Amino acid sequence: MNSNTEMKKVAIIGAGIAGLSCAQELQSHGMSVDIFEKSRGPSGRMSTRRSNDWSADHGAQYFTARDPRFMQEVQTWVQAGTAVIWKPKLKVYEAGLWRESKSQEIRYVGTPNMNSPGKHLAKSLSIQYETTISQLERRDDQWHLRCNENAEINAAYDFVVLAIPAPQAHALLKDIDARASDITSSAQMKACWTMMANLPNQARTDFDAAFINQEIISWICQNESKPMRQGNMWTIHGSPNWSQENVELSKEDAQDQMVKCLTDLGLNCQDAEISMHRWRYASGGLENPIGFFTLPDIGLGLCGDWLNGGRIEGAWLSGLELALKLKELSS
Ligand code: FAD
Repeated sequence: MNSNTEMKKVAIIGAGIAGLSCAQELQSHGMSVDIFEKSRGPSGRMSTRRSNDWSADHGAQYFTARDPRFMQEVQTWVQAGTAVIWKPKLKVYEAGLWRESKSQEIRYVGTPNMNSPGKHLAKSLSIQYETTISQLERRDDQWHLRCNENAEINAAYDFVVLAIPAPQAHALLKDIDARASDITSSAQMKACWTMMANLPNQARTDFDAAFINQEIISWICQNESKPMRQGNMWTIHGSPNWSQENVELSKEDAQDQMVKCLTDLGLNCQDAEISMHRWRYASGGLENPIGFFTLPDIGLGLCGDWLNGGRIEGAWLSGLELALKLKELSS
């Protein structure tokens, strides 16, 4: 890395909640930050799938806030109208029996969609969408990035932050630095098969969402039970173990197995309209979370849920803490 006072230009790969939080904090300390994101919009796994006549949150379903810094951030989202408390009627299914959930957790959802807080953060940041970073190269103490069809990004950076799931970070780092690739290769991430279903013959249920234990499905939720949603869509998640073991199934075969499980749970799937999504890297991470990772000697940082216990709060805090570390290194 250049001498500390020169460390000004930062490239962040990934506009999920970790990359956005890192960028926001760095920018507030006067650093110049460019984010590169392979999708068409921000928020990563805090996402909403849209079709012509329906939409459904198909990644993260809700978030909780325990750390005072994240609680404060969530309040700014609430004040901006991009998040709100969701109070679902929750049930649990286990060993053939349904019961009320005793959980007293305060749950938030993005409004009107799960990707709304990310869109809100993205407004003040410089993000180049539809740009998949395919190669990193360190020359003359600076980082050079290649994207998509091997085109070189027209800028050099003092620091590069990878705010992407561990296996995707590993692909970029394995030939660059053994210390970083040891970390990325030791994280265990699991897949999630997600089904979005319109169930026209399903009568109103006495719950909004349910945790399903010991089945191939682990979660079902009526999307419209969340504030500001309309329509009749259900989001159903495969369990992490079943999804990982069956990650290479075709969408049709995964759907058949999940529909059978839903039917066994008592839901009417007749004439269902279904869309499937395969998340290759949905959850999991380091067995012993380290928050974030940085190599000041080569100007490299890693952040994301997989370094910090998983989930949205962990991802946001990981990005924040990495940014504070970079600020310390540059002052
Ligand atoms: P991501 O959101 O994955 O962001 C990484 C970004 O990097 C993505 O936008 C991706 O497109 C981009 N990217 C990747 N590679 C490249 C590249 N080479 N070049 C450019 N861009 C790239 N959390 C909760 O708190 N509550 C829940 O209920 C919950 N449920 C979940 C259900 C599912 C099905 C899934 C998938 C996740 C769920 N999570 C939940 C987890 C939560 O979504 C994540 O912890 C959090 O969103 C991770 O944020 P992140 O910024 O670390 O990573």
